[in-house]
Amino acid sequence: MKSGLLTMLALSLLGSSAFGQARQKLKVFISIDMEGITGVVNWEDVSRSGKDYGYFRTIMTKEANAAIEGALAAGATEILVRDSHGSARNLLPELLNRNAQLIRDWSGGPKGMMEGIDESFDAVIFIGYHAKAGTPDALLDHTSSGNVTDFSINGMSMPEAGYNALIAGHYGVPVVFVAGDKPLCEQASALLGEVETVAVKEGIGAAGVNLHPEESRERIRTGVERALQDLSRYKPFRLPTPYTLVLKLKNEASVYNGSFFPGAKRTGDWELTYSSDDFLDIMYAYGVMRR
Ligand SMILES: [Zn+2]
Repeated sequence: MKSGLLTMLALSLLGSSAFGQARQKLKVFISIDMEGITGVVNWEDVSRSGKDYGYFRTIMTKEANAAIEGALAAGATEILVRDSHGSARNLLPELLNRNAQLIRDWSGGPKGMMEGIDESFDAVIFIGYHAKAGTPDALLDHTSSGNVTDFSINGMSMPEAGYNALIAGHYGVPVVFVAGDKPLCEQASALLGEVETVAVKEGIGAAGVNLHPEESRERIRTGVERALQDLSRYKPFRLPTPYTLVLKLKNEASVYNGSFFPGAKRTGDWELTYSSDDFLDIMYAYGVMRR
């Protein structure tokens, strides 16, 4: 009887390690921008004053839902959606899948489009993302604002998806899935290595060839589910410290002002350089410098 109980205990311990891959918890963070949403090709489409803005908010919310449904199908136990575009008040709360919670508006802190991320998350997803400033055949390409012509860390020029992946990496969380225009998907893959991508459109100059929104949603749903099935494929995005930001700006007033940021140096006509071992320091400095 006693040995029988011990055997049962041993078997249950063995069982829990053998099936330890079955996750108790799968906590997913989704950051969603608007320029890389299906059908969006013009600044009017993503601006409150634009006549089609309301329409594209609905498409954006449905694209968020496709990612949420994919995450739920993969067993997500908790999903946090961070609205990351413009006012950060674009997603339509009541249309959003009720299994997710939504962060709206800007906190004022350095995490920006990643506000809400911490080490408790298992995976990060980017939806509606766009290519960095100056990318050919990309739709609405820019980096943070019209004032930034290039953002590089340790010599690697990167889009918003790159520095937001470094914020996730700061907390040890990998980016597993990216959706947006084709050049953005290529930039994200080049930086992150192993990552699932879905290109919902591609540019011809400033025009765009788009998938049908339903087709985009289907690809996002199945892509997110596949991406979350084996998290051992991915590594959090980190670079050797110190992190060195080289920032190129358009406005002389910003470059002049940024040169007074403690530790920052003006290193060219339009260029500021700043180093830190802590990536959140870099993002804090970036927020001040690009004003
Ligand atoms: Zn945006």
